[in-house]
Amino acid sequence: MTTQTLASAMAATLRPLRLNFAQVCIWCGYRWCTSPRCVGLHEKSVWIVCIDCDGFGVLGPLDACHCVHGLMEATPAVDSAELRRPLPVYRPEDDEPEFMVTPRSAGRP
Ligand SMILES: [Zn+2]
Ligand SMILES: [Zn+2]
Repeated sequence: MTTQTLASAMAATLRPLRLNFAQVCIWCGYRWCTSPRCVGLHEKSVWIVCIDCDGFGVLGPLDACHCVHGLMEATPAVDSAELRRPLPVYRPEDDEPEFMVTPRSAGRP
């Protein structure tokens, strides 16, 4: 599997849009927000690929990740080892069948 370290992924600035696709501010939750506070927070914020879902947005077949479109805000508490871990190119689960087909028992109506 081809991998890339998070550090190299960070070389390209990772940052979600301040207003989500529905135009709601990710900082204050107000639609069409123009608050200087939110703009400032957003400009200073540092984002990394989500350490829970690797940026794929899902934790399992039924669990969505609560990150921001695959990114999470970095904090000083982030272990530097997290920045050097290899990133998968696709979800490992995609290699596995999502469901099993169980054949009907034969010979009974
Ligand atoms: Zn805002
Ligand atoms: Zn996530």
